[in-house]
Parts: sequence; structure tokens; C-alpha cells
Amino acid sequence: MQSLQVINTPELSTVHALHEPKVSGAGPISGTLVEQTAHHNFSLAAQQLGLSADHQLLLRTPFREVKVSVPVQMDDGSLRVFNGYRIQHSGARGPAKGGIRYHPAVDAGEMQALAEIMTWKTALVDIPFGGAKGGIAVDPTKLSAGELERLTRRYVSRIHRFIGPFRDIPAPDVNTNAQVMAWILDEYSSRHGYSPACVTSKPIELGGIRGRAAATGTGVGMVLAEHMKARGRSLSGLRVVIQGFGNVGSNAAKFIEEHGGEIIAVGDVNGAILSSGSRPLRVHDLIEHVRLTGSVVGFPGAMAIDNEELIALPCDVLIPAALENALTQDNAGDVRASVIVEGANLPTTAAADRILRDRNIDVIPDLLANAGGVIASYFEWTQNLQQTQWSLDKVNRQLRAYLTRAYRAVRKVAEGRDMSLREAAWLIAIDRVARAESLRGAVRTRNARA
Ligand code: NAD
Repeated sequence: MQSLQVINTPELSTVHALHEPKVSGAGPISGTLVEQTAHHNFSLAAQQLGLSADHQLLLRTPFREVKVSVPVQMDDGSLRVFNGYRIQHSGARGPAKGGIRYHPAVDAGEMQALAEIMTWKTALVDIPFGGAKGGIAVDPTKLSAGELERLTRRYVSRIHRFIGPFRDIPAPDVNTNAQVMAWILDEYSSRHGYSPACVTSKPIELGGIRGRAAATGTGVGMVLAEHMKARGRSLSGLRVVIQGFGNVGSNAAKFIEEHGGEIIAVGDVNGAILSSGSRPLRVHDLIEHVRLTGSVVGFPGAMAIDNEELIALPCDVLIPAALENALTQDNAGDVRASVIVEGANLPTTAAADRILRDRNIDVIPDLLANAGGVIASYFEWTQNLQQTQWSLDKVNRQLRAYLTRAYRAVRKVAEGRDMSLREAAWLIAIDRVARAESLRGAVRTRNARA
């Protein structure tokens, strides 16, 4: 992530999630909108694979759910107690892996859905990890730097027995960054001995890998480039709109601009801007503006628009890179892009997905589109275990290789089975985890026909 900025997102947060009507083709649905979306995608793929009820139950049930109280002495001397979570969805293919989010909307349901997504993502891009997610229900913008550090250290003191280089490896997510990872490393290492591989996306000085901070956004750009290549085009001249201009959105913008694409509009939690005239936004200057002011709003020379208008702008590509549930049945009909690349996790509800498919809009799903970050985290973990150092060139070459291989596998299955890229991605991922569970003996029989 970029900075610890204000993220109060009632319209996107899972706590306010609406219960959209059930979409045909999936099993019974309950829970918040993100849980429903994950359930819908899982059920469709499980049906296609012919997985037994036992297998489905095993694959969907989180391996471990930890909820802790995180007491923090505030600067004014008072004590506050925050709720912290770490959900390990699966370790069938390797140690659990996933980010840590600091946000007021963090709760067990959101963490479970996001942990599950990590399981399928690591399986899809074929790296030896399972899936996890963690977080603290807190608005970090209301904390001083000292309070934030004490919060992080206390959280780690409560969960350190459950994480570690071969157990569960955290990374940043919304509102956490390399500094937070450095505190996690320090707190964990003070109990278990120096363990750089216990966390990824650390500062380079502490064993971080070059290119990791930008890798998710860079990967979004690489996957989009591969998709356009399959459609006989390149990024050159593409008109792109991005919702969310934090770590993922800004790095995707940089990559796309460097490869000839045009960023015509972006938005964040405070509002959105549209380039005026025929000139696209200059990404470098915009990043500097956000660094200085904390928002894209007020960028000189651009027109202010609101976030609903942003989603409905005529463009080639729309990249939701903020939070969950950005595209719902209420606004999916307004989208005028021909390609959507999911930089965020679970930004499209099941009902919105159906609408987009009916409208022949290509959706490159989160499992694939934003996997660049966890792939680079895998490189970082490998680098730490082997005590070597990778060059930036090697990181980016390998990143492209992993993402290209995954994209082509997804496309092949989608074309072969006449299904969407999302359905194909979930199918491949679930099949891999199901096979791992079977081989480890967790279920006796397996009916999958992959
Ligand atoms: P970030 O905190 O750096 O940036 C989030 C951005 O979204 C900010 O610009 C914020 O203002 C904006 N935003 C928040 N609420 C909004 C709203 N209601 N409307 C419009 N914009 C809003 O976070 P990030 O690390 O860039 O993560 C963004 C998304 O990408 C999340 O879904 C995260 O889970 C996912 N993701 C992140 C990584 C990573 O490596 N950071 C990896 C994979 C997936």
C-alpha cells in the first residue's frame, strides 16, 4: 500500500453489504456479499469438477480461525481494545499466505472470504502456499505512529504461535505497508530468532525483495497486456479508468502508461478526476500530488467527477483497485469498458458478474489479475530461505513468466469449456487444491473429473 490514508468506505465495506438476489447455477447462499460472491464462484466450479459433498465441505471450511483482543495503551494514557483476526483457510499446498488489513470494516466474515480467495489464488498461479488473511478492526488514520506500532506489536504477540516461515506468512493489504511488516518481523523474531521469511513485502534493508512493493499493480498491467495480445492488440493507445489509487491502482497506472496506455480517469475514497481535453493524466505527477495531499482530488488540470460517474465512463479498460463490492447489480449495467481487470479482491458481486457476461464484457478475475503481489512474495520468501538476493530484472522476468503461464492456462480452459475466465480460474485452482487434499489423505475418495 502507499500510505496510511483515510479509508472510510461505507458504500464498499462488507458490513454494509446488501444481500443481492441469488444467481442461478450455484447452491444456497447466506452471509455477507463477499461471502456470497466467494460461495457462488466456488459452487459453480465444484459442480463442474464433480466434487463430492465431503470434498466441498473440506475445501470451503477454514483450517484455523483466530480471533484475538488487541489492547493498546493510547498516547493520552487510556486503554483501547481492538478486535484482531487471522484466518488460515488452507495449508494443503504449503504454508498459509495472505495480507493483513487495518480497516474499520474488518470482521470474521470478510477475513474468511479473503483468506479463501488467497487459497485459490496461490493454487492458480502454482506457488507452494495456501491461503490466509488477517486484520484489525481499526481506523489507522486516527492513531499516532506510536499507537500504530504498539497495536501491530501487540497483535503479533497474540498470534505469533500461529504464524511463521513454514506455517503462515503475512504481507501488507489495505492500510498496512512495509513499515508495519518490519514491526511484525521484529516482534516475531524477538520470540523465535531472526526470521526474515516470516513476513513478506518487508523493507529491502530487512530482506525485502526489489519490485515487491509495485508487483501487484505491475502484475495487473502484465496480465492486461497478455489479454490484449490474445485479442490482437497491445496496451498502446488503450484508454484506462482506475478506481482506487493506492498501491495497486497507482502501480498499475505506471505500468500501463509506460507501455503506451492512457490513464484518463482515476478515483479514490475522496472522489474522482477525469483528464480534461485529449491529454491523459500524467501518472508520475499524479502520484506526487497524492503523496503531498493524500488524494487524487484537486489534481491540477483535471475535472472533478464522482465515483459513480467514474465507473460509467466510456473507456477500453476499467480497473477496480479499491475494495470489495465495487461492481454490483446496481452499476454493472452502466459500465462502458470492454475489459475489466480486477485489481482489488472480490470487487464484482455474482449478480454483477452475470450482467457483465451477458453484455460481453471480458472480466479478468482477481485470482489472476492481482496475483503479482503474492508471486513476488513467494520470490521474497525463497530469497530469504536461500539467503540470496534477486535483481529487479530477475523479479520482473519471473513475475511475467508466472503470470503469463497462469493466464494462458485460464484462457485455454475457458475456451475449451466455453466458460468465463473467472469460472476457468476457479476451476483450475480448486482442482489443484482438491488433488492436494486427496493425496494427503484428507478425503478418501475423489470424484473430480478435471
Ligand atoms: P491501498 O490502501 O494502498 O489503496 C486503496 C485505494 O482505494 C486508495 O486509493 C483508497 O482511497 C481507495 N478507496 C478506498 N475506498 C474507496 C471507495 N469507496 N471508493 C473509491 N476508492 C476507494 O490498498 P491496496 O494495497 O492498493 O489494495 C487495494 C485492493 O487490492 C484491495 O482489494 C486489496 O485486497 C487488493 N490487493 C492488494 C495487494 C497488495 O499487494 N497491496 C495484492 C492483491 C490484492
